[in-house]
Amino acid sequence: MTVVVAIDGPAGTGKSSVSKGLAQELGARYLDTGAMYRMVTLAVLRAGVDPDDAEAVGRIASTVQMSVDYNPKGDRYCLADEDVSAEIRGDAVTRAVSAVSSVPAVRTRLVELQRRMANGGGSVVVEGRDIGTVVLPDAPVKIFLTASAETRARRRNDQNVAAGLPDDYEGVLADVRRRDHLDSTRAVSPLRAADDAVVVDTSAMTEEAVIAHLLELVKQ
Ligand code: C5P
Repeated sequence: MTVVVAIDGPAGTGKSSVSKGLAQELGARYLDTGAMYRMVTLAVLRAGVDPDDAEAVGRIASTVQMSVDYNPKGDRYCLADEDVSAEIRGDAVTRAVSAVSSVPAVRTRLVELQRRMANGGGSVVVEGRDIGTVVLPDAPVKIFLTASAETRARRRNDQNVAAGLPDDYEGVLADVRRRDHLDSTRAVSPLRAADDAVVVDTSAMTEEAVIAHLLELVKQ
């Protein structure tokens, strides 16, 4: 069985872990489109360009050389030949990524790349914000994951603490709300569930339960 699964939703819903787990269960490839926006953002910051300068950001998006190599033991995201997998998860990139991803020229370039990668053959799980609505509107399975802002902030803060970062629930909650607002109100491809997506609230579910539920949906 070959299947294309589109998984969208805001940060902190467990989207990445669940998408990777589902891809593994299905023997499918996995594509993290957020990492691609993060790579462009890193290139913008390194070039010393203001993330709010849409024209300059667009120029960088059209020339940046990036590659994505998914591996269940650890993804590799490269700018030219440099592995930037860790750096794209850092604070500087996280703060600037919403501004960069609201630039139309950035989205045009990345959506085209994402379509090419998703249509590369075999089953694939594609994770992002606009996969079911814009990137792959014909995907046979569309999932939209949600959870309360408080649940998402708690999860993100727990991850930070486990990774040795400071414990700052209030700060993380403020950031979750800020990014939700930016992502859902931007003019191009705002974050929203596709009309034909199945909405799954993960607030009271374990990761395993969510994956099992999604496997059922795929089988149906
Ligand atoms: O999923 P992740 O938190 O890594 O995504 C980082 C940011 O990239 C999001 O906050 C959003 O601004 C942007 N993004 C997007 N469209 C996607 C995936 C991510 O605009 N398909």
